[in-house]
Amino acid sequence: MNVDIQKIREDFPILSRTVYGKPLVYFDNGATTQKPRLVVDALVDEYYSVNANVHRGVHYLSQQATELHEASRETVRQFINARSTNEVVFTRGTTESINLLVSSFGDEFMEEGDEVIVSVMEHHSNIVPWQLLAARKGIAIKVIPMNDRGELLLDEYEKLFSERTKIVSVVHVSNVLGTVNPVKEMIATAHAHGVPCLIDAAQSIPHMKVDVQELDADFLVFSAHKIYGPTGVGVLYGKEEWLDRLPPYQGGGEMIQHVSFEKTTFNELPFKFEAGTPDYIGTTGLAKALDYVNGHGIEQIAAHEHELTTYALQRLKEIPHMRIFGEAAERGAVISFLVGDIHHFDLGTLLDRLGIAVRTGHHCAQPLMQRLGIEGTVRASFAMYNTKSEIDTLVAGIERVSKMF
Ligand code: PMP
Repeated sequence: MNVDIQKIREDFPILSRTVYGKPLVYFDNGATTQKPRLVVDALVDEYYSVNANVHRGVHYLSQQATELHEASRETVRQFINARSTNEVVFTRGTTESINLLVSSFGDEFMEEGDEVIVSVMEHHSNIVPWQLLAARKGIAIKVIPMNDRGELLLDEYEKLFSERTKIVSVVHVSNVLGTVNPVKEMIATAHAHGVPCLIDAAQSIPHMKVDVQELDADFLVFSAHKIYGPTGVGVLYGKEEWLDRLPPYQGGGEMIQHVSFEKTTFNELPFKFEAGTPDYIGTTGLAKALDYVNGHGIEQIAAHEHELTTYALQRLKEIPHMRIFGEAAERGAVISFLVGDIHHFDLGTLLDRLGIAVRTGHHCAQPLMQRLGIEGTVRASFAMYNTKSEIDTLVAGIERVSKMF
């Protein structure tokens, strides 16, 4: 991987730009990744040479666009090792995937007093939809606590189950702490209690092998834009036996079999959940991004990012008054930190002036911030194209800013 890194960087045109006259160091990959040229080219090519609405036309272009769209579904199926493309629903992203699941699952399987188990380190997108359901239906939300290293307490998790537990919904990799949760074990625990489990894979899918059959996940969600693909596209994976039993989310074209004012019947999987014109150009982009990742090998990418993270942790800890949040034994390519009493926003703003893009704030995880007793952090998150020398730039930048305070 190291040998190819410069070549990889050449695939991402944005990486050669400057910011405030400084070479860009892009460490906000947890928010969104940059796009390789071949992904953007695929979008442009399809608009210029194929564009037509999918699933609807007898004409040549429509059929070609449909073939591309459905081939992308097959690429996703292979990437996550789903049993069938019926289990791959295209959405607008992780957030929409979770809202879809909460709405459909909540309508069908949850009553007042029923319970969902989530963890203290969830992104707002895996908290607020459940709260909206709680307001509508009176369900209760149970929260798995964590230790000070940022590891979920599995004994406490076990104790949260009751006869009212209907589903578990947990994040695979924390977008703040970098913790890799033992989701395979947690899914097995849920199954032992007879309930399904939703995995938020937004921060795991770009960085590690995610195999839905190996995990035995019932539902798993992610966004294309965090794995080098375009914005506006995401995936809800669901086991066919579950998706079959869930009611549709939105109504409209494409998700129906037959409509009359007396009675409407719904389309088969996965189209039952895909009302309206899908982002068929975006799904092509997602497939290209997954091909790109496959071309380099997710294991090699993971190894490279692991090396970067280890190096970054070691170098950051050399900085006086450095506080790192998240010291889990299993961790991903995300590091959250604060330095002395420098406000995260000030640190982020001054780093930006040096051309270094990091995230600041609560990272859409305010309950986790409350647990940590802070308002926000600075977050550096890495991708396949980052280098150790960029980490040196970050460390030098933080040292420079520290001296100003
Ligand atoms: N879950 C996690 C863990 C995330 O990091 C994010 C994005 N920050 C989301 C969900 C939401 O993803 P999106 O905004 O693409 O819907």
